[in-house]
Parts: sequence; C-alpha cells; structure tokens
Amino acid sequence: MSGDALSHDPAELRRRIDTTKAHPARVYDVFLGGKDHYSADLAAAAAGLAANPRGYLDVRHNRDFLRRAVTTLAEQDGIRQFLDIGTGLPTAENVHQIAQRISPDARVVYVDNDPIVLAHARALLTSSAEGRTDYIDADLKDPARILEVAAKTLDFDQPIALCLVAILHFIEDEDAYPIVRELVDALPAGSRLVLSHLTEDLNAENVRAVQRTYTERGFTFVLRSKAEVERFFTDNGLELAEPGLVPAHHWRPDHAAPVPEQPEPAYLDTLEDIEKVRYHDINDVTDADINVYAALGSKP
Ligand code: SAH
Repeated sequence: MSGDALSHDPAELRRRIDTTKAHPARVYDVFLGGKDHYSADLAAAAAGLAANPRGYLDVRHNRDFLRRAVTTLAEQDGIRQFLDIGTGLPTAENVHQIAQRISPDARVVYVDNDPIVLAHARALLTSSAEGRTDYIDADLKDPARILEVAAKTLDFDQPIALCLVAILHFIEDEDAYPIVRELVDALPAGSRLVLSHLTEDLNAENVRAVQRTYTERGFTFVLRSKAEVERFFTDNGLELAEPGLVPAHHWRPDHAAPVPEQPEPAYLDTLEDIEKVRYHDINDVTDADINVYAALGSKP
C-alpha cells in the first residue's frame, strides 16, 4: 500500500496520537465490539450507553449497511472503484475485502484524519494481488487534496462509489454541503454515493443524549433531518436507488451480518456493557433502536 507517503512517518503519527482523550474512531470501535481503544474511549462509550443503552445498535447497523451497499455495488452494479472517506478502524468486513472478494481487481482508496486509523490501516488494509488499496491521511474538509491524491489510484473516467458513511455528522452545514458537492462533481457518470447519517427524527431523546456525550468532549456532532440528509443527493442531481433514504436496518436487509464471535476471555470487564455489544445478535433490533438514515444514490 503506498498512499500519501509524506504523512506515513511513524514518529509524526505517534506525536498525533493522544490516548488520554476519547476519539470518535475508537469510541465507534468500542460500539462495534472491536479491541482498538483506550480507557478514555471506554469512558466515552460508557457515557453513551448510560444515555442510550442500545446505542451501539446504531453503530452495528450502520456498519452492516456499508457491507450490504458495497456488496450490492460490486455484485449487481459492477462497481470496481471505491473512495471511502471516514474509514474507521479496520474491522472484520472492510470495503476492500468485500469488493475484492467479488471483483479481485477492485481498487479502494481509504481516507481518514485519525492517526490511529492510519497506523492500523497501513498494517491491515492490504490489497488483493490484482487490485489496489491505498490510504490517504487527509481531512474531509480538504476535498481538493483528497481528489488529487485519490486520482493516483482511481481512474476518474470510470464509475466510482464515494462512501460517506457515518462521517458527515462531524461537519457543520456551511462545510458539509459544499464538500459533498465538490466530491460528487468530480465523479464521472454512473458513479454512486453511499451515505449514512445520524438523525434525531426517529428517537430524539436517545440520540440527543448521545450527542451530549460527544459535544461535552469537544466534538462537532450535527444531527440532520431526513430532508437535510436527502439534500446531499438531490442538490447534486443524484438519483436515489430503492428503497430511498430509510433507517439503516430497513435498507435492503439480507440478515447476513456476521454472527457474533464466540465469547473469549475479555480484558474489558471494567465495562460490563461491552460484552453485550460484542456478542449482540444485530437481528435483535426494533425501530426504536435506530437513529441512522442510509441511502445509495447514482449519478446519471
Ligand atoms: N465509515 C466507517 C467508520 C465511521 S466512524 C463506518 O461507517 O463503519 C467515523 C470515522 O470518520 C472515524 O474513523 C473518524 O476518524 C473519521 N473522521 C471524522 N471526521 C473526519 C474528517 N473531518 N476527515 C476525515 N475523517 C474523519
């Protein structure tokens, strides 16, 4: 994996890693049942679960939407190029694993601004021999740079699936809409937008409580309504694929999410709830649990 060589200096990365503060990618990893997080992240996750005990289901279902969308795109729509911005810590089913299992020559460019994500991605997000996997250390707020570096790996004359999955809530309105426009404008016809977004439309009390745990820790956390999320598609001339913009667990459910791992000796006993998260069967879900809208759009 080559990526953006300049920012791969391990000493520089270490300087940027602060394990004393919760970081969104690592809190997300806690809710996903992963292992790459520190006590500050566990504390933030615990606060989130205290506010909304089944809040981890948003994360689990968001991630499973990404799996289903990438599977659909690779299997049915013949998409072989993915630009995944806000990658998160590597987990079981990452975009390139799904896409390259179906099309071994698929090319995937991952983008994140978290140094821990970068360090893990370099080690774990390795490509098939026929395909390509690259990693860009960049901020979504700098779309021009993302596009410039991604063009070293992706062919911008062929359709590309842009994945903005559970990332836009970190970006304020005045930036979010222009950024998505600039990215979508750069994509050729036949490209796709895979997007999910937290909302307060569905279970306002739960998700506002979770929002507070983030804003108290200094993170931007913008909840958007259905109409506001739809604008990311309609403002940019994108056509929504069936079933449109829906709560994540209603987007083409296939009930094929990987089954929870077998329990193993855990080192996270400090937080009892983590066990529930790790071994939860995600099919055990109700509409009252989910606060994430998800959709797939295509560029005519
Ligand atoms: N897309 C993945 C992970 C979502 S977690 C999934 O849905 O499963 C959100 C990720 O976005 C984190 O890894 C975080 O580091 C990253 N992120 C947040 N703000 C960002 C920004 N401004 N630029 C790039 N990445 C960002």
